[in-house]
Amino acid sequence: MTEAEELRFACDAMCGGLARWLRAIGYDTSFTPDVDDAELVEHCACEQRVLISADGRLFERRAITSGQVRALRLPRGLRLRQQLEWVVLAMRLDVRPPRCTACNGTLRPVRRDEVQHIVPARSLVWADEFYCCYSCGKAFWNGTHWMRMQRVRERLTELLQADRANSSSAGRAAD
Ligand SMILES: [Zn+2]
Repeated sequence: MTEAEELRFACDAMCGGLARWLRAIGYDTSFTPDVDDAELVEHCACEQRVLISADGRLFERRAITSGQVRALRLPRGLRLRQQLEWVVLAMRLDVRPPRCTACNGTLRPVRRDEVQHIVPARSLVWADEFYCCYSCGKAFWNGTHWMRMQRVRERLTELLQADRANSSSAGRAAD
């Protein structure tokens, strides 16, 4: 298993939007806004999650300064989309099949008739891909929201490719 396959994240209380997007690109990301800093760091230590936060105080905690908990400090002032791009490039995150954006569960493809009781009738007619979350049962389909997510996923893949191309040409220049 490569490191990227094991990577799991925990977003702090200020990064709920980012947590949903990391799930949308396939990364196991917890978001528990009601815990305090100590509990959050403990949770990361127990579950070996990389903590993501823009809160400088968190980074002074011993578990983090000692390297026991890996943490990624978000630059302040970034908008949500910029946060996502920043994390993807900083951690070189390949875009993977999405997880449930609501609860972080894994999605399984399902047949139309399995979700006909939850998906709105008109979406049932024109959507042709349906997924269900193993954990919370929420249904997803390739409607407008899914398409928007797909465009962001494609844009991130392009960014990563451009970044890799840049760093390999920089590597050659340094040789
Ligand atoms: Zn779910």
